[in-house]
Amino acid sequence: MTSTAEKPDVTTGTAEAPVVHHWIAGAPAEGSGRRFGDVYDPATGEVTKRVAFAEPSDVDEAVAAAKRAFATWRETSLARRTQILFAFRELLNASRDELAAIITAEHGKVLSDAAGEVMRGQEVVEFACGIPHLLKGGFSENSSTKVDVYSIRQPLGVVGIISPFNFPAMVPMWFFPVAIACGNTVVVKPSEKDPSATMFVAELWKRAGLPDGVFNVVHGDKVAVDGLLDHPDVKSISFVGSTPIAKYVYERGTAAGKRVQALGGAKNHMLVLPDADLDLAADAAVNAGFGSAGERCMAISALVAVEPVADELIAKIKERVATLRTGDGRRGCDMGPLVTGAHRDKVRSYVDAGEAAGAELVVDGRTVQPDGEAAGFWLGPTLFDKVRPDMSIYTDEIFGPVLSLVRVGSYQEGLDLINANPYGNGTAIFTNDGGAARRFQNEVEVGMVGINVPIPVPVAYYSFGGWKASLFGDNHAHGTEGVQFFTRGKVVTGRWLDPSHGGLNLGFPQNA
Ligand code: NAD
Repeated sequence: MTSTAEKPDVTTGTAEAPVVHHWIAGAPAEGSGRRFGDVYDPATGEVTKRVAFAEPSDVDEAVAAAKRAFATWRETSLARRTQILFAFRELLNASRDELAAIITAEHGKVLSDAAGEVMRGQEVVEFACGIPHLLKGGFSENSSTKVDVYSIRQPLGVVGIISPFNFPAMVPMWFFPVAIACGNTVVVKPSEKDPSATMFVAELWKRAGLPDGVFNVVHGDKVAVDGLLDHPDVKSISFVGSTPIAKYVYERGTAAGKRVQALGGAKNHMLVLPDADLDLAADAAVNAGFGSAGERCMAISALVAVEPVADELIAKIKERVATLRTGDGRRGCDMGPLVTGAHRDKVRSYVDAGEAAGAELVVDGRTVQPDGEAAGFWLGPTLFDKVRPDMSIYTDEIFGPVLSLVRVGSYQEGLDLINANPYGNGTAIFTNDGGAARRFQNEVEVGMVGINVPIPVPVAYYSFGGWKASLFGDNHAHGTEGVQFFTRGKVVTGRWLDPSHGGLNLGFPQNA
């Protein structure tokens, strides 16, 4: 919730709810201080912090700092940039538990999962440490007589990164290590629901020796996002969030002449063939359906069972779900709360709708007894069987701990269902038949495919991104596509003067 309390009352915060400021030119910045949002601890339901919401003037200030820093950062040697990246990697590695605790306190995911997210982000930093190799161009000697041609890749300038709540550390890290390694300067707009992780990261960069202004943070809502989208000095936007906002960001950003990669929502299917190892499939479905309370863009939310295995699969999943403990992520539970009360209520309303539509409710998360404060944003793992593709629990991205099983009669029926879905982020097939798996990887219209792997998030040296309504733009995140996104190619054709050359020739240059 946003309030409009006056500056003197809130910018300094209170002992109970300190303020999360912006980070501009290497230091915390209060900004205009007109609007603030509440940050909750989802396991207690309490407001623990207030986050400053940027006005356009705050965005201008951050972009100006980034622009100033770009002039020298782009000239900084690859050797020096790499030293800073290695130093950042060491600090991040050493601070994993501290950062995980910050994530859990604002997002709610359990500590081990938060630490896992930091590690996956760190992988991208490690990838970016190899930037001297990644930025090597091509060189062709004597393309024409005594003419050499070579390619170089140069940074864009100030780049904007806008991220969602569900991976407050990892998702921004899909982008900024590569952007910075390539010589760009950055303005990050984290989710207003869990803003502190990015501030912690800003301090790590400073300790690693990154010059002030290379990494900046503005917090806020649509005002901050629009400020970045419209700013003439912001050269690219990397966005991750829900599909309607991703589409909006892509359209507005490209209309303003920017390079945009906008990753959207998902509805990830897991196809289980009759020959699959059903214990493995049941473990995978539970891990991928309920990990991080289903608030992962690569979570499995639709299980597609090819008959006759559905009854057995449901029984195995039900058995496993009964062993899960939902509660405060700091208490060693398996699954934490949802991010806000409003989001929990929305997810709950889908459970009500699924039941009303006639799906079979096998496990009802509404009755969960959490190991946590009563006011936390709880909803337990929920399992539906006999879900039909016209039900809202199937058609919509619920983004919560709700797993829906759809029964189909054949591989082809399952494949057709997946390909008919508007989203195309991730998918998985469970089978022991190599031929079927190979056919699936070829035929499925989805960007990231798992074979007996339920959450096929690519390692950092490959690129992350979906198809269809899950990605607007051409470049996926990190890997070589990330380097491509954050650089512009240039080709130089050169000749050094030689006494044997000269003379006038107005014809078009030809190879000779
Ligand atoms: P969201 O779309 O609500 O918010 C994402 C970002 O956009 C936030 O920084 C938010 O402040 C900003 N924003 C929100 N409304 C806006 C508006 N009207 N105009 C401009 N900016 C606005 O998403 P969320 O709830 O934070 O995150 C969950 C969503 O993100 C899910 O749909 C999930 O699938 C998706 N997601 C996708 C991927 C992927 O790789 N494809 C990864 C993670 C999350």
